[in-house]
Amino acid sequence: MINVTKSFLPNQAEYNAILKTSWDKAWITNRGPLVKELEQKIKDKFDISHVIATTNGTLPLQIAIKALELKGEIITTPFSYIATASSIAWESCTPIFADIEADSFNIDPKEIEANITEKTTAIIATHVFGNPCNLEAIQSIAEKYNLKVIYDAAHAFGVIYKGTSIFEYGDVSTCSFHATKIFHTGEGGALFTKDQELYDALYYHHNFGHDGPENFHGLGINAKMSEFQAAMGLTVFPYFDDIIARRELLYKLYLSKLNSENLQFQRIINDSEYNYAYFPLVFESESQLNTVKEALNDNQIFPRRYFYPSLNTIDYLKGESMKVSESISKRILCLPLYYDLTETDVNKISDIIIKYI
Ligand SMILES: *Cc1c(COP(=O)(O)O)cnc(C)c1O
Repeated sequence: MINVTKSFLPNQAEYNAILKTSWDKAWITNRGPLVKELEQKIKDKFDISHVIATTNGTLPLQIAIKALELKGEIITTPFSYIATASSIAWESCTPIFADIEADSFNIDPKEIEANITEKTTAIIATHVFGNPCNLEAIQSIAEKYNLKVIYDAAHAFGVIYKGTSIFEYGDVSTCSFHATKIFHTGEGGALFTKDQELYDALYYHHNFGHDGPENFHGLGINAKMSEFQAAMGLTVFPYFDDIIARRELLYKLYLSKLNSENLQFQRIINDSEYNYAYFPLVFESESQLNTVKEALNDNQIFPRRYFYPSLNTIDYLKGESMKVSESISKRILCLPLYYDLTETDVNKISDIIIKYI
């Protein structure tokens, strides 16, 4: 069986060896040495100002909204995972959707500007499938209208834009280290910011507001990463460059095998070092997608409709209709892409798809 993804797991002995240090000390959470080591390794590798490891990739979005004290309307993308928009609603703000670009699948800066009102306080944009948003355009809109910017960089671990880590952009960036993501800690995630004051606020928020054992800086929640999660991260981390290289090879093989004018690929933004986090494929119609999906399923191959549905169509989010996002989300399929996938698998999957388009 070939699923859309498979978690990268090195030899279990490597995990056990890393975990042993915390086991021996019986120190398994509350920002132990393994969490700090993982944060330091991430900072050093990508030359990042500040990072806070968290227990998943959703709490960072909620904490960022809280720490920036956002109210009112937040402009966001309808083409993302539910966590992007649900975090806005969870924090009692109103998500206002702005449609996406048909080729990059990222939020369209022109649509952001068209949706700004006096109630708008921020933009939350997703680097879809790791492809950087139009960072310059979003920054200049934010400056012009005095808005905060949060990037949901859940897919973007390792991505570099114009020589700088993608996590250094915006007021806050968030990442997910979920088992299905390109770099993982089982469950996990992180908060990033360049701003020291904001870092302090995010840090307090992620640990109950604690300022020492008996004082509280303010309201907080528990989003701490455990030592078990950090041990997993430290086990996977040394393999990260190999993981990217392997994915790049498979991604490029898909591109060459699926070279057909009936298929649309994601346009990856120039000036970026991409991480090959996903291989999305857009069909001409939803029925063509369904035919291909069934044929793949018959061969025990399980791609994923992702992102689907378009978030503006979800009842409780009460979005306006979004032409481009709804059209793409109905026709997009993410193909299997993971470290252990073989070239033979890619050839087989591609041959089946080509037969039905
Ligand atoms: C996975 C994901 C999240 C949520 O991350 P979790 O670690 O699963 O909480 C948020 N946004 C996007 C775009 C994601 O893909």
